[in-house]
Amino acid sequence: MSKVRVRFAPSPTGDLHIGGARTALFNWVFARQHQGQFLLRIEDTDQKRCTEEYKNSILNGLRWLGLDWDEEPVYQSRRKDRHLEVAHDLLSKGLAYYCVCPPQAATPPEEKSQNTAPCPCREAGHVSGALRLKRPLKGTLSCKDVVYGSVEVEYAQLDDMVLVRSNGMPTYMLCVVVDDYDMGITHIIRGVDHLTNTLRQMLLWQAMDWEMPECAHLPLIHGQDGKKFSKRHGAVSVIEYQKLGFLPDAVCNALMRMGWGHDDTELVTKEEAVSIFSLASVGKSKAQFDLKKLYHYNQHYMANMPTEILLEILKNYTSDPFDEDFINKAKQIFPEIVKRVKTLHECAEALQVLHAPKAYLEHVEDDAINMVRDVLLSCEKWESDALEASFREYCLTHDCKLVAVAQPLRVLITGKKVSPPIFLVMSVLGLQEVMERIKQYEEQASKSESP
Ligand code: GLU
Repeated sequence: MSKVRVRFAPSPTGDLHIGGARTALFNWVFARQHQGQFLLRIEDTDQKRCTEEYKNSILNGLRWLGLDWDEEPVYQSRRKDRHLEVAHDLLSKGLAYYCVCPPQAATPPEEKSQNTAPCPCREAGHVSGALRLKRPLKGTLSCKDVVYGSVEVEYAQLDDMVLVRSNGMPTYMLCVVVDDYDMGITHIIRGVDHLTNTLRQMLLWQAMDWEMPECAHLPLIHGQDGKKFSKRHGAVSVIEYQKLGFLPDAVCNALMRMGWGHDDTELVTKEEAVSIFSLASVGKSKAQFDLKKLYHYNQHYMANMPTEILLEILKNYTSDPFDEDFINKAKQIFPEIVKRVKTLHECAEALQVLHAPKAYLEHVEDDAINMVRDVLLSCEKWESDALEASFREYCLTHDCKLVAVAQPLRVLITGKKVSPPIFLVMSVLGLQEVMERIKQYEEQASKSESP
């Protein structure tokens, strides 16, 4: 086999969505597995809908996922002359013709394919109009798809596809084939929604007598309800998952599992997939996007990441200040935090306990404040277990439950009703800071009480 060269060919008309990212990932894994090349082609010929902003957003999405590409991206819009050159080559070989029929009204492709009559101007020798490809009129076109097997269509069911519109613009069908050929693409891996396009594009590969790349179509992605994955199911673009606080490894893992599996392996990084992936084990049945699994993957990758690295990621994720003192304290409570959170967002929120509270979600009675202060001052060792032991002892001698004491304590120190383990938090904050927070609570409470 010649050296593998695959491509991801997004149209920059939106952010990188989950379906596109899955296509990009499968191409990337396949390329890396075969020490081949993963290329990008920006399909930006629709000048009205494509923007520079979306292009950058897609590239950033790929970078964030760690899907590095090997050559400068190819911009389809810059290759118009080459697309026209191929079209004219076909014309000069008698394989294409100018057609002056009025453009067809927008008929659904299924109906169009029933239109078996060849165009009446096929041999007329017009010199202007839309340039169409002459398809063979008899026989069967057959595509051997790595995933879907043999897919066939009668030539007669296709139409003579337009290569260049009467306004002189090459069509998408022409551009894709010429670009794939010029880029030396060996395998076309893309969503099964392109399968009909593949069949039609085959006509062009054949007409040019170019060797058609191998094709592998990936099953469409559906939501948990079995319907096509869309906004209805939640966030659809990779960037939204980034903002929600998911790690790229978790998103890649979820993407990898959409249409491909290896035994029962649930957790798989893209690097691991490089050694075990095979196009032959991509399934035909609907791929599913499962948000619960994504949370599970995220929790797993967060919990297994070295603290230093995760803190660095968090620093870039939040706008919270990350000074040295904060980082030192964060490191101490981190092992307890990562066990309990599912996203970077939740992690950052949990770390907020290292800052004095801005608001209090519950009122704390004076008696409780005095009790907390007494126990704290009597505690001999300022360390998590010793602090807990002191509060437990207090509860024993005063015949009350620990939670009755720990809850007001939590509110005084963190402002919240739920927090990372409070004795650990206090041990990290230190006696002075804890006392200051209690004082802060009292000051705020007295302010809100005064008329
Ligand atoms: N630009 C097309 C899309 O975004 C992909 C075309 C292709 O992969 O050949 O769906």
